[in-house]
Amino acid sequence: MDCVFCEIIKGNIPSTKVYEDEYVVAFNDLNPQTPVHVLIVPKKHIASAFDLEQEDAELVGRVFLAAKEIAKNLGLDNGFRIINNCGEDAGQTVKHLHFHLLGGKTLGEKII
Ligand code: AMP
Ligand code: ZN
Repeated sequence: MDCVFCEIIKGNIPSTKVYEDEYVVAFNDLNPQTPVHVLIVPKKHIASAFDLEQEDAELVGRVFLAAKEIAKNLGLDNGFRIINNCGEDAGQTVKHLHFHLLGGKTLGEKII
């Protein structure tokens, strides 16, 4: 399977890991949009939010628990934003479910 995030999870492609547990890994985005820009990635290959199954419900919760932990570790005491791009309309480029954790400054205008 040709998936860059699976290769990062296996350690075949280098990354700057900031968090890892049984369910997820998190590493710095290669092209950061904010002072802190971390990708939180389930270890299980799921192509996008469209592809989530009932059995993945806990996994998504684990992503948010990881986000809380990472935010604490990286000093995002003033807050952070989590974004998931799903599918064409959202411009998803890597087809392995991931959540952008953004922070480290006052974030720009909100979409919502
Ligand atoms: P998305 O547009 O939501 O699919 O976001 C994909 C993100 O993955 C982009 O922000 C890229 O900068 C990031 N990215 C792609 N390849 C790598 C990599 N090898 N290591 C870290 N981040 C990456
Ligand atoms: Zn993958």
